[in-house]
Amino acid sequence: MNEYDSNRIFDIVKNIGYEKSNDQNNADCYIINTCHIRDKAKEKVFHEVGRVKKIYSNKDKPVMIIAGCVAQAENQEILKREPYIDVVIGPQSYHKINKILYNFQKNKKEDETEFDTVAKFDLLEKIKNSDNKVSSFLTIQEGCDKFCRFCVVPYTRGPECSRPFKTIINEAEELIKNGAREITLLGQNVNAYSFKENNNEYKISNLLNELENYSELKRIRYTTSHPVDMTDDLIECYASNKKLMPFIHLPIQSGSNKVLKLMNRKHKVEDYLNIYYKLIKINPLIKFSSDFIIGYPGEEQVDFDKTVELVKEIKFINSFSFIFSPRPGTQASKLKELNNSISKERLIKLQSFLFKNQIDHNKSLENKEIDVLVENKTKDQNKYFGRNEYFNSVIYSSDKNDIGKIVKVNIENSNQNTLFGKIKNKMKAA
Ligand code: SAM
Ligand code: SF4
Repeated sequence: MNEYDSNRIFDIVKNIGYEKSNDQNNADCYIINTCHIRDKAKEKVFHEVGRVKKIYSNKDKPVMIIAGCVAQAENQEILKREPYIDVVIGPQSYHKINKILYNFQKNKKEDETEFDTVAKFDLLEKIKNSDNKVSSFLTIQEGCDKFCRFCVVPYTRGPECSRPFKTIINEAEELIKNGAREITLLGQNVNAYSFKENNNEYKISNLLNELENYSELKRIRYTTSHPVDMTDDLIECYASNKKLMPFIHLPIQSGSNKVLKLMNRKHKVEDYLNIYYKLIKINPLIKFSSDFIIGYPGEEQVDFDKTVELVKEIKFINSFSFIFSPRPGTQASKLKELNNSISKERLIKLQSFLFKNQIDHNKSLENKEIDVLVENKTKDQNKYFGRNEYFNSVIYSSDKNDIGKIVKVNIENSNQNTLFGKIKNKMKAA
């Protein structure tokens, strides 16, 4: 979502004459868009500001803006600790950035950290999305009302708020006109999307089905979803929607019901398995990825073993796994932390299973021909980069530029993160 937000911030400031600069030594304004989900986020900000300070030590200082969730969570504190920072602007206030830049006065600190999500969505509707990537992001929902005890999102992104249905479709049309062939719908709880108008409720399933009608759009994805919002209408889309990719990122966090309860997750392992079995009954080729938190306060060996069991049962093909990181202001930050070496040991063990699943999945695609949506050339310009239906990175060689198209690639080998192949030359008929 930060990538989407950064692009939208640029779309806004472009209107008052700012351009993106590739030359970091000569910028008038620096915007650092930040994430606060795990530890060290604040320190990274100070480190980056220190780097910029050095670059500009002998010349005019750029306007230094810290945007995003660290700005939201730490606002006055970062302004006080680092006088080089001029403005902090939260994720639900960035639509005000032009006013701030217009009125900017040296030595006057600005703190814009209101939750003004509806006004932000209104402004985004009026400003064209200039993203012209083959695979584009589109925010449909922000914020969270679920208050998992470990998570800062409800405090940094605010309450759940969904964008109007029509606005989203208009923005998708813009992206498709700009060349998007894949759209990923975004939200902190993307499948909680709910927009009510004239006695109708629009859900994510309505968005997915509407987007399916655009012939130039080839693939649709969404992230990040929450198990409690995996409703039957959404599950049904996997039977009917031809553009919805058979890959679901569905965080579970732990395989132990005791830990899920301690986390205030509002779902049990059985609920998760129920969703899993419903989906693979519809399409046995659907694959899953997940998020895991290891070493949550109260996690015992028996709880961790249950997480490992779950990973053995559902062969997640890709996942994020981290040691619990106490976040300021959350309920879990007050709990007694687990011994770090135990958590580390458990994380390494879990990751050995997760990585094995990932490698096995990639190996299973070797010597097969798979559909790849081509996104761009590789940095060295020698090969092409794209993704398969399961969102795996694919690098392949070809003498034809097929950017924006879906091509058949023969996979020759793979590693944990990438598939490598080439386009098979079709024999011409004699
Ligand atoms: N809303 C989604 C859900 O609950 O299923 C997940 C979105 S959350 C913004 C992204 C992920 O960050 C979570 O699934 C969780 O695994 C991880 N995360 C959040 N807070 C964390 C913390 N305090 N320590 C470690 N990981 C954390
Ligand atoms: Fe954070 Fe997701 Fe829980 Fe919301 S549902 S509090 S975003 S982990």
